[in-house]
Amino acid sequence: MKTTAQVVVIGGGVVGCSVLYHLTKKGWSDVMLLERDQLTSGSTWHAAGGFHTLNGDPNVAMLQSYTVGLYKELEEISGQSCGLHLSAGIMLADTPERLEFLKTTVAKGRYLGMATEIISVQEAKTYFPFIEDQHFIGALLDPNEGHLDPSGTTYAYAKAAKLGGATIEVQTKAESLEQKPNGTWRVITNKGVVECEHVVNAGGLWAREVGRMVGIELPVLAMEHMYLVTDEIPEIGEYNRSTGKDIAHVIDFGAECYLRQEGKGIVLGAYEKACVPWSPKTTPWSFGQELLQPDLDRIALSLEVAFRHFPRLENAGIKRVINGPFTFAPDGNPLVGPVRGRTNFWSACGVMAGFSQGGGVGLALSNWMVDGDPGFDIWGMDVARYGDWATRTFTNAKVRENYSRRFSIRFPNEELPAGRPLQTTPLYDTFLAQGAVMGDSWGMETPLWFAPPGEKAEDIVSFHRSNDFEPIKAECLAVREAVGVTEIANFAKYEITGAGAEAWLLQVMTNTMPKQGRLMLTPMLNHQGKIIGDFTVAKAAEHRYMMWGSSQAQVNHMRWFEQTLPKDGSVKIEALGMKLIGLSIAGPNARALLQRLTDDDVLNEAFKFMDYREMEVATVKAQVNRVTYTGDLGYEIWVAPEYQRRLYGSIQAAGADLGLKNFGMRALLCLRLEKNFGTWYREFRPIYGPFEAGLDRFIKLDKPDFIGRVAAIKEKQDGPKRQRVFMVVDALDADVMGDEPIWVDGKVAGWVTSGGFGHFVNQSLAQGYLPTELVKPGVQLEIEILGERRPARLQMDPPFDPEAKRMRM
Ligand SMILES: Cc1cc2nc3c(=O)[nH]c(=O)nc-3n(C[C@H](O)[C@H](O)[C@H](O)COP(=O)(O)OP(=O)(O)OC[C@H]3O[C@@H](n4cnc5c(N)ncnc54)[C@H](O)[C@@H]3O)c2cc1C
Repeated sequence: MKTTAQVVVIGGGVVGCSVLYHLTKKGWSDVMLLERDQLTSGSTWHAAGGFHTLNGDPNVAMLQSYTVGLYKELEEISGQSCGLHLSAGIMLADTPERLEFLKTTVAKGRYLGMATEIISVQEAKTYFPFIEDQHFIGALLDPNEGHLDPSGTTYAYAKAAKLGGATIEVQTKAESLEQKPNGTWRVITNKGVVECEHVVNAGGLWAREVGRMVGIELPVLAMEHMYLVTDEIPEIGEYNRSTGKDIAHVIDFGAECYLRQEGKGIVLGAYEKACVPWSPKTTPWSFGQELLQPDLDRIALSLEVAFRHFPRLENAGIKRVINGPFTFAPDGNPLVGPVRGRTNFWSACGVMAGFSQGGGVGLALSNWMVDGDPGFDIWGMDVARYGDWATRTFTNAKVRENYSRRFSIRFPNEELPAGRPLQTTPLYDTFLAQGAVMGDSWGMETPLWFAPPGEKAEDIVSFHRSNDFEPIKAECLAVREAVGVTEIANFAKYEITGAGAEAWLLQVMTNTMPKQGRLMLTPMLNHQGKIIGDFTVAKAAEHRYMMWGSSQAQVNHMRWFEQTLPKDGSVKIEALGMKLIGLSIAGPNARALLQRLTDDDVLNEAFKFMDYREMEVATVKAQVNRVTYTGDLGYEIWVAPEYQRRLYGSIQAAGADLGLKNFGMRALLCLRLEKNFGTWYREFRPIYGPFEAGLDRFIKLDKPDFIGRVAAIKEKQDGPKRQRVFMVVDALDADVMGDEPIWVDGKVAGWVTSGGFGHFVNQSLAQGYLPTELVKPGVQLEIEILGERRPARLQMDPPFDPEAKRMRM
């Protein structure tokens, strides 16, 4: 066995083999894969082999599309058949809500170039003849679905990788990992030691154990999963002969099951509510190519419904039942990328759909390792989307929830309960007592809206405007006409100190840095000149800066900061988490309210827009930013958590006669929309350049140097190819949610990034991206909402306070 390699990939399932192949494709040939048993001997060998391109996250969907398109190439290179059957797939709608969901899915797919369409039940029967019409009202057709041979596909990746120079060692278990002081790794195996620069964890069912070798607890859990294979059904052979096609892959949401052809029979697998985790704490190393004990009672409910929906199947005999484990992250998407705090230790695990996603995971990870960037927007799969709060038992609760809801609709206003409440602020109970409906913001409970007295504090889930519409309107109007208070604890907050702090900030951020006592807004770019962050920075003192950003990106951002900090220790950065939490007051009466709480002068001349000040508010030491995301006069007041209740109580008492009202996160998002403020993860993502995103004024190209400057100069010189736009929509009773296509002249020309109702301006609003040549006054737009194209128009200025006087009043 070789004793050195540039990369050691641990795990010979479909994912590890894909990573290995993609590394060789990128030109790294000194790469080695270690497999403790034989290739495929984790989850891979007993998979049902289905593949599809659809995913709730359009960026993950694109990588799935890549995976499905890859198999032909793989067969050609390796000479190994993947056993492809491109049978097409249909998803059956049994309720109006499900049909609406499928229409939004088709709409999302349009701008990704996917060929999905809504078809009638009659047409669906031409793909899957066993459907009993009366139970369904429509279907989605995806021509790019099918199934393959899991083992053949894994070996095809492995052969193609070997042809590219890779080495594969089977019966070779990585037993422990040691990092040397120079950052390189020693992989200790049962056959000796391999020294390498990079380690990839593609351990599948054992990914947690491999993570533990470097002291991390990855949020992954294996679940038992069952499918059965029926005896031959003569009609299938007849169908194959008469049409020349396989029977299509089917998802029946009502029965929570999937079906496809296998030989001349049917595979039927279910995602049952009564799901069962497998090896919740530790996966035994002794687990070989084994199956688990089937328990058909667990999926009896699914079978009962499926037999009602497809009666012909009820009498088909069962040839075999497979029960096997495979892994999930809490949200069901993979965990990919460099692990924060562990140099050159890469994650490629939690892949629950290895045959839809394995290719995309391999491609993105190999790009990341070789080029320093995944090359795509893979935020939805980044291992850094979870923090320490995603513990093993939290993961257990969330994975079970996710598994049992695999075929359930997730409505845009739906919050999922498992594992909650996890992190709460001192005001949690107070807000609940005041009618708050809480949402989960990356592990932290955040008030979304407040139900009026006497009304139930609960969302009625829907794709349409719902029971929160009027209460949110009242909250928005209170902010615009008087004053509102909201909790803003769910921001990421950082303190940056040291003699090198300013120089480092100037290097990683695009804007100049503020003077002492002032704030500055700044995007952050990667080396390719794409947006990877969006921050507010305050200079608190010489060599001390405070910074606020997106909480969900905190681990991702800390990983980037730690990579870019000078090695001489001249800069320190701390993510403050719950050490600093805040309340924001906003609206025309906000200054009067703040003045009642402090003996500092907060008049406009003394405390200007974009000022930062350390002061006492309600007798509490606070840091106050004169800025709010509402686009109104307002302040963010940051305090230590032990003072938050006092601060809130004082604000309530002092604001009673000023028209003070609580407002939640949903009102905040409506208010920012009226100002056309973008938001991280929707308008600002690593697929957009700063000029496309309209962030021109925060990009100081005349600064000596900063990361992404060269690419940003090029973007500016070439002119952005697309632009962020603001639109007013002629909506009926449903506003945009994000990811809807924008039509121009009967063609899909762009997409929506976010939107909703602007209650103060009384208009349905949307933001999105369009090709630059279409961004001109008078262009006729349509936005597809729930399957219907609604007229929309471009609006160049924000509808609320276009001259930005309110923030400065
Ligand atoms: C019943 C069932 C049906 C399924 N149906 C489908 C389907 O239709 N479509 C689909 O896309 N997916 C399906 N899946 C899921 C699919 O099997 C997984 O997504 C996929 O196999 C994950 O591959 P992996 O490479 O990440 O993990 P694994 O297949 O678990 O591979 C990990 C490998 O790493 C090795 N390993 C671990 N630790 C070490 C170590 N320390 N040293 C050396 N080697 C190590 C293991 O031996 C193993 O071979 C199904 C799964 C099950 C159980």
